[in-house]
Amino acid sequence: MEIFWADQKAKEIVTRKKFRYINKEIPEFKEYVIKTSASISGVLHIGRLSDSIRGDSVCRALLDKGYKAKLVWVAEDMDPLRKIPEGVPSSYEEYIGLPVVKVPDPWGCHDSYAEHHVAGYKETLEEFLYVKPEYYSMQEEYNKGSFKEYIKAYLENLDKVTEIQNKYREKALDKGWSPWLPVCKNCGKIITPRIEKYEDGKVYYKCEDYAFEKHVAKGCGYEGIANPLKDEGKLLWKGEWAAQWARWRVVAEGAGKEYVVPTSAWWVNAELAEKILNYPMPVPIFYEHLMIDGKKMSASIGNVVYPRQWLEVATPQLLRFFYNKKLMKTRSFSWGYLPMLFDEYDRHARVYFGLETIENEKERKHMQRLYEISQLKEIEKPLPLSFSHASLIAQLFESEEAIISSLKRSSCYDEKVKEEIMKRIKLARNWARKYAPEHMRYSLLEDINKVKEKLDEKQTTFLTKLAEWLEEKPRTREEIHNQIYILARELDIQPKKAFQTIYLVMLGKLAGPKAGTLLASLDRKWVIDRLKCKR
Ligand SMILES: [Zn+2]
Ligand SMILES: [Zn+2]
Repeated sequence: MEIFWADQKAKEIVTRKKFRYINKEIPEFKEYVIKTSASISGVLHIGRLSDSIRGDSVCRALLDKGYKAKLVWVAEDMDPLRKIPEGVPSSYEEYIGLPVVKVPDPWGCHDSYAEHHVAGYKETLEEFLYVKPEYYSMQEEYNKGSFKEYIKAYLENLDKVTEIQNKYREKALDKGWSPWLPVCKNCGKIITPRIEKYEDGKVYYKCEDYAFEKHVAKGCGYEGIANPLKDEGKLLWKGEWAAQWARWRVVAEGAGKEYVVPTSAWWVNAELAEKILNYPMPVPIFYEHLMIDGKKMSASIGNVVYPRQWLEVATPQLLRFFYNKKLMKTRSFSWGYLPMLFDEYDRHARVYFGLETIENEKERKHMQRLYEISQLKEIEKPLPLSFSHASLIAQLFESEEAIISSLKRSSCYDEKVKEEIMKRIKLARNWARKYAPEHMRYSLLEDINKVKEKLDEKQTTFLTKLAEWLEEKPRTREEIHNQIYILARELDIQPKKAFQTIYLVMLGKLAGPKAGTLLASLDRKWVIDRLKCKR
């Protein structure tokens, strides 16, 4: 029994016996191919990385079991431009409907709009993936003729193809329907040629306006005839996906949970793949989409998170961890949640290295595998300081020297992982500046006189006693934490009020980080004077 989802998928891939729709044996695979792809119509945000990261995990699970496996990444660059993305001039309206590979690069640095984005994708993907993918472009594949045999199979079995398509549609397809779309020979657009009929191996079309959600692809009025086996064009998505599976001999691919429903494009492609192309449906990796603050990521809401932004405050391993946790559970992310996610990750690291014990064996194994599969080439060692601690230190101290001596004071320093610690401090500093919620932004109160008179007698006594106890000898975080409770009880102060008193004199507010950590991080002499309200 496999515990981790990617290992379960890997097992399913290597043990399945039969096609799903026909009584046929699964052929032998010398190498297992996992496909991931992306529409190039928009920029890459971290939500889009989920498909590739999950595919990468299944690929890795196969590799770990000793099978030959690879990841292919396909740019859907024959798809038409549907909208004018952010940052692109409105004059791009004229390109709506052109295959994205034919749209000029608005930034002028690449041959096309598609190439510009693909370059960005490649660079980013490799930072987040364990397996380096093989890259393909749909336009190049069509040009090379890689899809000819599948186009031919569809056209030769058009009645059967139509019948399968109709099972998934409310309204039956018209007679003369074509599974292949031509590129208009006059204006080069892909979506505007409206097909009048398919007859004797030829597609008759007229180039007309096509309305997308917000934009209209303008047709040029051209009337033409195209040969699907010779001329430029592409298969419709319901049919093309199946052809991709057959072309790369794909055994698994990720798809959003909306594809689970029995009428989705996944299943019509699955049936076409098996019944027409004689290729078994891949094992689906259905997953939930990422939400940001409970909302779908979108440029119009303005909550899009780009990989660069992620890497300013977190690591690729952390995003892998986040996506690998579970497949079908809503993943909602908020920037304020980042320290908790790091804590969870750190806990998995400790369990992986046997520094923390988990009674339940299944749970332990799951945690270890999840941690392992979230790693890149090298397995990250657990760090002696949490992300929230790092964010506190990053806000209180500037120089590396001051940071290290503070960490030494609070016993959170290990020379062996100095570089990793300093990296975490840097990420945490960026996070604190950009995304930390108000209650996690700290700076030391400069003038004690501002709060001094607000303290009652009991509070002053509490602070003095704590200062005297600290004067005796250096104390650890835990000791300070416990001592606060002891003194609060002794003086009959509510623990909450005791903590608030400390935050008030240290930070000038009523809430703060763990008080033991805060006091242990700062210079002891300064802390003692401050608790005595001397400075
Ligand atoms: Zn460019
Ligand atoms: Zn046209």
